[in-house]
Amino acid sequence: MQSYTEAVVESSCEPAYADVNWDELGFNLIPADYMYMMKCTDGESFSHGFLARYSKLELDPSAAILNYGQGLLEGLKAQRAKDGQILLFRPEEHGLRMKMGAERLCMPSPSVEQFVDALKQTVLANQHWVPPPGKGSLYVRPLIIGSGPVLRMGPAPEYTFLVYASPVGNLHKGQMSMKLVIQDKSHRATPGGTGGIKSITNYSPVFKPISEAKAAGFSDILFLDAATGKFIEEASSCNVFTVKGNVISTPALQDTILPGITRKSIIDIALSFKYQVEECLLMVEDVMDADEVFCTGTAVGVTPVASVTYQGKRCEYKTGDDTVTERLRTKLAAIQTGTAEDDFGWTSTLNQA
Ligand SMILES: *Cc1c(COP(=O)(O)O)cnc(C)c1O
Repeated sequence: MQSYTEAVVESSCEPAYADVNWDELGFNLIPADYMYMMKCTDGESFSHGFLARYSKLELDPSAAILNYGQGLLEGLKAQRAKDGQILLFRPEEHGLRMKMGAERLCMPSPSVEQFVDALKQTVLANQHWVPPPGKGSLYVRPLIIGSGPVLRMGPAPEYTFLVYASPVGNLHKGQMSMKLVIQDKSHRATPGGTGGIKSITNYSPVFKPISEAKAAGFSDILFLDAATGKFIEEASSCNVFTVKGNVISTPALQDTILPGITRKSIIDIALSFKYQVEECLLMVEDVMDADEVFCTGTAVGVTPVASVTYQGKRCEYKTGDDTVTERLRTKLAAIQTGTAEDDFGWTSTLNQA
């Protein structure tokens, strides 16, 4: 890769906010000014990370990421609290998950400390891209890619850790519920595969079934396990929960289910609210029989599911203000934006200028 110039980050003289229409944010890329980069040759450790202006990458055509998909992604959000402080949600958990994924893909990874430091530097350098309170968040996207050249199939001789960011909006009222479809013909993950990590190779294989589901009026697919086709796993990029009376259930983690940090947080919040939480094998019938269904993930937060359709049969669920889903959603959002006490110690504050 080309040599990048380390950027001198201007801070004090910048306006408080970038020139963005904060009321019209969606989930489209609006690249923030700076990205973080750090390299590592195989067998060594990542070091000498730095901030550079957001720019195109120069990659060898034989880079492992381009030829063999050797890469991992992460995604987390920085939010601005009412007092102006910027909060990151559980960055260490994302760093740990990236480390586990890197091991699976034969890649080195930054230490959790290096990971969190890189995130903080990236968000601080881009702080005027963090939306005003209530308008959205700065979505932060860390990547590890096999950037070195390879011809014979195998791991790369050099790796690059990158962090870039983009402001994104909150989901609006109209988008606030999902219509899911369960189908038998496509699968997201297979036992022994990479469904349990955020491998870059997991996402494009579902583009086709998802676009077909969208054309039929659904928001996403609720994937069944590939081995038996009996158990619910998750949607394309979020975990799933059911509510039945006082019991909240979600599929137990295995290597075909991504261990969501929102999932884990919702389990803890639900337990603190004295619900009974079950991590179990969830059958299609259990989902059809639920009072409420919801999805969790960094991008969607906690999103109610209005209906699930399976073999032409459509089940509708309770949504709206007076639901368990809404109670959990509100609490998580309040912790993430600093409006509720962070009893769990999940948020990290940035030291702003
Ligand atoms: C990222 C992701 C999730 C959600 O994980 P969070 O840590 O909650 O953002 C769920 N499923 C898949 C397949 C994912 O890629």
